[in-house]
Amino acid sequence: MKLLFERSVSGRGMNYLPKADTGNRMPDEKYLRKSRLHLPEISEVDLGRHYTELAKQTHGVNDGFYPLGSCTMKYNPRINEEIASLEGFTQIHPLQPAESVQGAMEVLYKTEELLCRITGMDALTFEPAAGAHGEYTGLLLIRKYHQERGDSERNVIIVPDSAHGTNPASAVMAGFKVVNIPSNENGGVDLEALRNAVGKDTAGLMLTNPNTLGLFDPNILEITKIIHEAGGLCYYDGANLNAIMGRVRPGDMGFDCVHLNLHKTFATPHGGGGPGSGPVGCKEFLRKYLPCHMVEKKGGSYVFSDPEKSLGQVRTYYGNFLVVVKALSYILTLGKEGIREASGKAVLNANYMMHRLKDHYHVAYDQTCMHEFVLCLEDLKKETGVSAMDIAKGSLDYGIHPPTMYFPLIVHEALMFEPTETESREVIDEAVKIYLDLFEKAHDDPEYLHGAPHHCPIGRPDETKAAREPVLKYSFDE
Ligand SMILES: *Cc1c(COP(=O)(O)O)cnc(C)c1O
Repeated sequence: MKLLFERSVSGRGMNYLPKADTGNRMPDEKYLRKSRLHLPEISEVDLGRHYTELAKQTHGVNDGFYPLGSCTMKYNPRINEEIASLEGFTQIHPLQPAESVQGAMEVLYKTEELLCRITGMDALTFEPAAGAHGEYTGLLLIRKYHQERGDSERNVIIVPDSAHGTNPASAVMAGFKVVNIPSNENGGVDLEALRNAVGKDTAGLMLTNPNTLGLFDPNILEITKIIHEAGGLCYYDGANLNAIMGRVRPGDMGFDCVHLNLHKTFATPHGGGGPGSGPVGCKEFLRKYLPCHMVEKKGGSYVFSDPEKSLGQVRTYYGNFLVVVKALSYILTLGKEGIREASGKAVLNANYMMHRLKDHYHVAYDQTCMHEFVLCLEDLKKETGVSAMDIAKGSLDYGIHPPTMYFPLIVHEALMFEPTETESREVIDEAVKIYLDLFEKAHDDPEYLHGAPHHCPIGRPDETKAAREPVLKYSFDE
């Protein structure tokens, strides 16, 4: 497919505006570019076709099933986009006086209140721009807490081996050392290993529950107690909140701070690198360390205030504000019961799909799952040579986005499915049929699957090369 720059024809283009009748005012010579600005010259119809063609080459939630585990790729209702595009939200400036943006401040205030109720926290900042950024912010809170108490030798964050890769990475970025603990045979935290890992140097624990295997840890109260008794704090990675919202709360499980991924759980589309939001909530005793620009209500109006011992800003202004608008719109449309119903259906769909697949595929931890489950294709690979990658690539030919592959790392040949609550029984039944067909194909014609996908715009790009030598801009000849 040709790039816009390659479609460009000199002199062509769109010219709607009349010539200026005010005379040209040029800036000082020294501010002028020395070379031509490379803007593609293209007609409106060609431009439209270009983007339509691009859209046809990708796969999104609007194209079909998208069971990418750990990512909660659910359908995001259009109404939230409509609300977020209202002029009152889009035509304001972060430096406007607070009196002139009371409505926007009310959005921040109300969403904070609702997310605190959902998570069992007391205060929440919207500054962090994504989950990993929220982890980093939460860990800075934990570090500040220990420092303020003169407890600065606490420099270890404990992370289970099933954790998302961002957890240990954020801990290191925030200046901690990471100690990994193994999972037990049920996929939960090994309590014995946890007891052995805690000590005077324990700053805290990072955990997601349900974890990345889609399993709710039944020992959660014991786990957070062990950490607290050792003098550490508990951080909740809220990426999997879609499984529990409206039912159980991290705050009641013993967690001191959490991040949420509004772009996973609360109706902002993600996956294309668009704006996300990773708000961080905390218990009362950590409130004074939160980033600046908290919204408070004083005598009937909203004001910004900086917490007493704020760790400063982690991002400009108030975070990705329009994502917060979508989250509020989503929460209010669903209501208390709807939120609870959404998590219930997400869990039901995952269990239904897992049960329909498990006579053929090997389920890594065969127990009731939460919103996602993990298959282990090690046996299939031994028998047929067909790998998790082959099955994932094969599903592309049927219009299904691959599940998450080779994660979590503790399951070999892993495929991780998260159907989400927005898929109907018909869609899941159809997907199950496709995965069972692929299972059969693995036995009958493994070569075919090694070469899959056969009907996509591209086959198997070199992923390592794409990551190590990304080509992010067009190189002009001149
Ligand atoms: C997605 C995810 C993260 C990271 O969130 P981003 O918004 O992608 O930075 C962290 N932990 C878990 C379990 C996740 O699924």
